Amino acid sequence: MNISEFRQQYIDAMKMSERAKIAELFRLADDLEATDKTEENYRILSDIFSYLCYYTKAYNYLLAVADNHNTKDAKKLYHLKENSETDGDKYGLKRPRKMKDSFIKMPNFKYCSKPLEAGLFEQVDSPQVCDCCGKGTSVIYSGSFYSVENVNVLCPKCIASGEASKRFKGEFVDYTILSSAISEEYKKELCCRTPSYNGWQQEYWVDHCGDFCEFIAYVGWKEIVEMGLKNSVEFSPKAEGYSEHKEYIVNGGSCQGYLFRCLNCKKYILYVDCD
Ligand SMILES: [Zn+2]
Ligand SMILES: [Zn+2]
Repeated sequence: MNISEFRQQYIDAMKMSERAKIAELFRLADDLEATDKTEENYRILSDIFSYLCYYTKAYNYLLAVADNHNTKDAKKLYHLKENSETDGDKYGLKRPRKMKDSFIKMPNFKYCSKPLEAGLFEQVDSPQVCDCCGKGTSVIYSGSFYSVENVNVLCPKCIASGEASKRFKGEFVDYTILSSAISEEYKKELCCRTPSYNGWQQEYWVDHCGDFCEFIAYVGWKEIVEMGLKNSVEFSPKAEGYSEHKEYIVNGGSCQGYLFRCLNCKKYILYVDCD
C-alpha cells in the first residue's frame, strides 16, 4: 500500500519527542486543513486530533469519511463519540509556543555571532525598559558591564551601536586586562560594542591570530566532550593549568569554562576561572 506524503509526515511526527511531536502535529493539521478534503486527509486529521485530545473534532473528521461496514472504523468512531460526549475538546492540548529565538532579530556582534545561544542575553515574557534607549525589550543583557552608574537593563541594540558604552561611560570587558598585542580598534570593538560573559573573576577575553576570538558558550568539560572537541580544543595560556584537571571544569559549577573560537584559524580555545 502506498503511504501518502501526509501520512508519512504523521508517522514521522509520532516518533518525535513529546514537545516536538505536539508542535509538529499542530503544524501538520494546519497543512491538512488547508489542502484537499480527501478521505485519507480526513483520516489523518482524525488521528491527529484524537492524539491531541480534541475528540469532537476527531470524531467529526472520521464520521465524514468512515465506512459503515468496516469494523475498525466503527470501533474508532464508537470511542471517539464516547470521548466527544464526555470531554469534547476541553482537554485539547495547547499549541506549544514557538521558540522565541526563531523570530528575535539580533544585531551583529563581531565577537559573538550567536549571542542568544551563547547565553549572553536573557529572554523575558514581559518587556522591560532599556536604561539606555528607554524602549521596551524582551531580550536583556546578562553579562558584565563596568560603569560607575547603576545600569540594570540593556537591550542588544544599545550594546551593538556603542550607545550604552558611551552614555554610561562603561565597558563590557575591562580594557586594562586585555593583551597588549591587539590593535586599539579591535579593543574598542570588544570593550564598547560587544556583549560579554559573566565570569567568576574579571572577564578575560581570549585572543588568537592577532584578533580577539568569538565567544561561543559557557561550558564544562562534559560539554566539550559532547561537542566532539576534546582532542582539538586548546587551553588559553591563562588557563593552561586546568588542562591537567579537566574533570573539575563543570558548567554552572565553581570551576567554569568559557569556550571561544578564533575568527581566523577557527580553532576552539577554552578559558577557565574559579570562584
Ligand atoms: Zn536600548
Ligand atoms: Zn587562530
